[in-house]
Amino acid sequence: MTTAALPVARPSRRGSAPVIGVLALQGDVREHLAVLATLGAEPVTVRRPAELGAVDGLVVPGGESTTMVKLAHRFGLLEPLRTALRGGLPAYGSCAGMIMLADRILDAPADQQTIGGLDVTVRRNAFGRQVDSFESVVELAGVPGGPLHAVFIRAPWVEQAGSGVEVLGRVVGGPADGRIVAVRQGRLVATSFHPELTGDTRVHALFVDLVRAARDDDAEGADHGPGDRGGRP
Ligand code: GLN
Repeated sequence: MTTAALPVARPSRRGSAPVIGVLALQGDVREHLAVLATLGAEPVTVRRPAELGAVDGLVVPGGESTTMVKLAHRFGLLEPLRTALRGGLPAYGSCAGMIMLADRILDAPADQQTIGGLDVTVRRNAFGRQVDSFESVVELAGVPGGPLHAVFIRAPWVEQAGSGVEVLGRVVGGPADGRIVAVRQGRLVATSFHPELTGDTRVHALFVDLVRAARDDDAEGADHGPGDRGGRP
């Protein structure tokens, strides 16, 4: 099998800056682009299926998931997004992006679809509808530098995580103490909070590292031919 047979043909440019797309239908796109640029990635906006084929990783920003998914459907992006993620495209979702990546959602309109891929149940506006935004400390596994100061805006939390999902972060203290707010499953990462708004680049750095590793794994797999696909699930 060659890379041409993959659902999404991604360029293999080992060593160069990873191209990371930000789904630019709605939400805080600019903030993610800015953080990615400081980390040595090449950020680009993604609005069309063809643009999706040219990225090494994808950020699904915070915003409003009901609007974002409607626009993804209207732009003919929803199925290509699902295909890309199933094909191993790394993705990171923050807040509404976490909802978009979840396989199951609660407190959502009955017909609200998601891209899916993460084996989690996510509750929308979980911290209480009246709580517009708040800040809290989150302990993040595998992220050096101590607990992270997190900003939550009408945020979801992960109500239930499947056995293949690694819990990366929980709220420390307050009424939501212990709630899961950061997860990883293979090449998919999601946080309930918005690291793109705080100047703390550690979550994005983790994702950029993941994207680089995934690209190298895929290049290895392509070099070695059938039966060796690197880290691709
Ligand atoms: N409550 C929003 C939603 O359901 C998410 C809020 C956010 O991304 N800040 O999509």
